[in-house]
Amino acid sequence: MTVQAFNRYLGVEVDRMESGEAEGHLELGAHHLNSSGVVHGGVLAALLDATLGAAVISSIPKEWWCATISLSVQFLEGSREGRLLASARVLRKGKKVAFAGGDVRDATGRVVAAAQASFHLWPYRPETERHRSEPFVVMRATGERIRVGKILAVGRNYAEHSAEMGWAESSPPVLFLKPPTAIVHDGGTVRIPAGAGAVHHEVEMVVVVGRDGREIPEERALEHVLGYAVGLDMTLREEQARAKAKGEPWTLSKGFDTSAPVSTVAPRDEVGDGSGLRLTLDVNGERRQDASTSAMARGVAALVSYASRRITLEKGDLLFTGTPAGVGPVRAGDELAGTLEKVGSVAVRVEEER
Ligand code: MG
Repeated sequence: MTVQAFNRYLGVEVDRMESGEAEGHLELGAHHLNSSGVVHGGVLAALLDATLGAAVISSIPKEWWCATISLSVQFLEGSREGRLLASARVLRKGKKVAFAGGDVRDATGRVVAAAQASFHLWPYRPETERHRSEPFVVMRATGERIRVGKILAVGRNYAEHSAEMGWAESSPPVLFLKPPTAIVHDGGTVRIPAGAGAVHHEVEMVVVVGRDGREIPEERALEHVLGYAVGLDMTLREEQARAKAKGEPWTLSKGFDTSAPVSTVAPRDEVGDGSGLRLTLDVNGERRQDASTSAMARGVAALVSYASRRITLEKGDLLFTGTPAGVGPVRAGDELAGTLEKVGSVAVRVEEER
């Protein structure tokens, strides 16, 4: 039960809130009284907390929130019946903390309790409350937006990374999906879900499909490639490890909101078949991953052909082609920058969700 719902359950009503002041009331009933027949201290505390909080809320911008840090109540008189009236005002307000004070009077005007409280203030940022989905990619030269359908990703495609993850070299590639809502653009923010454990960076070449196809032969596969981007396959490594151990899918550890930053798209005719391109990732300016796409076990044509054996590829689908060695954890405040030769770069900042 939230504080607001709890206050309503008790019967606390806030009557007035304006310019750092508030008034609240409570009609006393039998359920508010303790075994001695006087109002329970917790009821008075709840009335004061709600009214002092309302005074603070009335003094901060509409898009800000506040939460009680501490509440100190002095209980002065017992009260058995009638209407209790609380009044409160803000005493002092800083950038992040506000202090408020107030009291409760009974129907005869006697002060029955008084309180002082401190409140934490913070700006409400709607974009951190709910991810604003941007499920498209942008062509580098023309700015044309292409809606992204599905995002396929390859789980093991560089021998050194397979070795660092403990996979046998001969293992076939693992394909998994991320939802289009995972996309973040250059300059955006990767948000680590609260309590999710370590999140790792994986820089990858991303193929953008330009033409629909099923069972595409390898020698025709490049005709289905519109262009290339550089992307980050952000991974909740601990959750993924738990899923692997139980044989469960990786959906949540790989597909969470903001888990797929992508750059703008360079057209295929300016890039070629995707081989021999330098792929790098820096964390806070320090190089962590650095490889040539020629080190991929399967090249672009082979991957497009492989994926299309079972799944129809459509214009706007993305294919993350696997990451080289050097993956590692990122933290809130880190700046990530991925680059792919001839293609471009993608830079994002890491935040932790509240
Ligand atoms: Mg990956």
